[in-house]
Amino acid sequence: MEKVIIIGSGPAGYTAALYASRANLNPLLIDGPQPGGQLTTTTLVENFPGFPEGIQGPELMENMKKQAASFGTRYKTGFVTKVDFSKRPFKLWVDEKEELETEAVIISTGASAKYGGVPREMEMVGHGVSACATCDGFFFKNQEIAVVGGGDSAMEEANFLTKFGKSVTIIHRREEFRASKIMLERAKANPKIKWMLNSAITELEGEKELTGLKVKDLKSNAVKSYPFTGLFFAIGHTPNTSIFKGQLNMDEVGYLKLPQPPKTVTNIEGVFAAGDVADHYYRQAISAAGMGCMAAIEAERWLSEQGK
Ligand code: NAP
Repeated sequence: MEKVIIIGSGPAGYTAALYASRANLNPLLIDGPQPGGQLTTTTLVENFPGFPEGIQGPELMENMKKQAASFGTRYKTGFVTKVDFSKRPFKLWVDEKEELETEAVIISTGASAKYGGVPREMEMVGHGVSACATCDGFFFKNQEIAVVGGGDSAMEEANFLTKFGKSVTIIHRREEFRASKIMLERAKANPKIKWMLNSAITELEGEKELTGLKVKDLKSNAVKSYPFTGLFFAIGHTPNTSIFKGQLNMDEVGYLKLPQPPKTVTNIEGVFAAGDVADHYYRQAISAAGMGCMAAIEAERWLSEQGK
């Protein structure tokens, strides 16, 4: 029987593990399909406080992992495929077979940025392709940047990227936008933003670094090459919550709902959630880490109230 199991290994999970292990809860962290989380797909992280020169995303996550391990966090490699939160102790299954029991759970499974399905896009992540303007915009100073999407994220990211790029072009597959009127108007009023509507990217150019994009006009089917050296997908995130469906309350997109904010407890006592899995608004490593700390403190207090 475990006291606390932490599911997921991004900044939220590792910070929860650090606090839970320092509270003598001897936590077990199950790292999931992408150990280290979204930051392992980025390069230089310049907005995590404490690193005036910046730090590489994978190194930051490795440091967090080591720090939590030094206080006794145990790690298990695997993927939680099923949970039963209907009664205590809670049950979890790892890789469909191994059954674990625990008094408390901290969910920090994160969210995955969606990419567009263009050939070679994942190879080019970190080499011109990104799904996070806040993380990577700075690297595209004075470059021609493309942003894919027609929702609020695309408008927000495009506006943000105009601080860096020579120009920012929004490439959207339709003429209508999902973006709210105010966000759309703000983008339209920005003189550095250009528009390519009814358009879809068909090919990424460049061997190692992005040197251009082939874009298809979806009305005429004509394909033309453009010299974009930065490509940001802003087509939404998918919270990694499918295994909790029917047990935990979530919004229509799948983000976990926390009924007692700023607390991290979910609709089930003893089950806490931290980081992007329950936050579509801030989505930052530092805010996820903060929530991880909060979840561990709440779990520790809840367990002691239960006499555990
Ligand atoms: P979203 O509203 O779902 O918009 C996604 C956009 O990406 C849509 O325009 C969609 O096109 C396009 N898209 C989806 N898959 C695509 C693909 N494979 N190829 C090309 N285009 C694709 O997502 P979001 O913009 O991330 O926003 C998510 C939620 O967060 C929304 O509720 C939004 O209001 C909120 N949000 C709020 C703010 C803010 O208020 N500051 C900022 C960001 C996000 P179609 O329209 O053709 O389907």
